[in-house]
Amino acid sequence: MLKKIETNITNEINNFNSLVYCKLCVINNKRPVTSLESKNFIGSKKNTTRFTDGICDACKWAKEKNSIDWEKREEELKDLCKKHRRTDGGYDVIVPCSGGKDSRYVAHYLKTKYGMNPLTVTWKPHMHTDIGLKNVLSFIDQGYDNYLISPNGKLQKLLSRLAFEGLGHPFQPFIIGQRHVGPKMALSTGAKLVFYGENVAEYGNNIEDNYSPIMDPKLYTSFNFLNSTENLEDFFISGLPIKKILKDYNLKLRDFTAYNSPDLKQIINKKIEVHYMSYYRKWIPQENYYYAVEKTGFEPNPERRDGSYSKYAGIDDKMEDLHYFMQYIKFGMGRATWDAAQEIRTNIITRDEGIALVKKYDHEYPKIYLNDILEYLSISEETFWDVIDKHRNRELFTKDLLGNWKLKTVIN
Ligand SMILES: [Zn+2]
Repeated sequence: MLKKIETNITNEINNFNSLVYCKLCVINNKRPVTSLESKNFIGSKKNTTRFTDGICDACKWAKEKNSIDWEKREEELKDLCKKHRRTDGGYDVIVPCSGGKDSRYVAHYLKTKYGMNPLTVTWKPHMHTDIGLKNVLSFIDQGYDNYLISPNGKLQKLLSRLAFEGLGHPFQPFIIGQRHVGPKMALSTGAKLVFYGENVAEYGNNIEDNYSPIMDPKLYTSFNFLNSTENLEDFFISGLPIKKILKDYNLKLRDFTAYNSPDLKQIINKKIEVHYMSYYRKWIPQENYYYAVEKTGFEPNPERRDGSYSKYAGIDDKMEDLHYFMQYIKFGMGRATWDAAQEIRTNIITRDEGIALVKKYDHEYPKIYLNDILEYLSISEETFWDVIDKHRNRELFTKDLLGNWKLKTVIN
């Protein structure tokens, strides 16, 4: 009975207008959960990380992971590889790969431990950083085939700008492409297995999702607008129906081909399976980093990026700094929060250290790459700040006496 009352209280926490922070890490009750029902495939204000007794689902999962029989899971992985291993010289697994620590770890592990023949596939970042490009090339030099899939650059820039202006989410079109690049390449190469790194539930989507080895096919087949019998009005990208973008910018449907997701029927007919490595092996980002450095020559960024203290995560794309800054503007949690939360859960830093890092870095705007971002989006700095002002969550922020925006509820 007591449990039930507590749960009711904590469910209400998610609906509070003010920020409530997890008792164990540093994330707050506004962290969005990816919604499959949303036309834009982004979280909404209503769909946020579940808190139970003041603890977020990601922290609950971090404890629950310790009771999983990982040896048994490794056996499952062994069987899965055996089922898909090819002897005809073809690719038997597709690994979507940014060149970052996680995808290197997945591809290297499958190749060296289970003798798989992976094809790594990169969905082109908006703007490669120097270290990001260096890492992709160095990984290929380690003995990996790689396809770089580059969507129409003019369109990618337009869609990123529309997504920034309309959704406050410049990364949204990129995410659509990145999610289906693996299954799409499986269809065209004859491989039946696709391996992504971690289920995003590791970080606070519903805890139950972590028990599924496979990705929900909705995530990579719902954006199949070419040859669709449905109305183009029903397909949204950058927060707008494709039909409107075609009309407003005088584009043709064929300009969007790279963003078209695979057809579910084809995926089923070809028996393509899309799995998460985080189901089979205990997912510890810091361990992946050490693995990638030691076995594949991965290099961290020479210095920290704006918004955080870490140098080893999310360093491939200059646009990432704006992406995390917008998370801070909309949900009150920026890049330092994301980094610190996972390092607290894996006992690399304490919660107090995490809080200090969040207070120091979370609010930083993307200063280092600001000019690159403005040029890429073709906007002035004035427009940039107007868009940020439009998306700033007034429920969470207030102005101080000097006119600077501050969070109303700061973590303590
Ligand atoms: Zn937590």
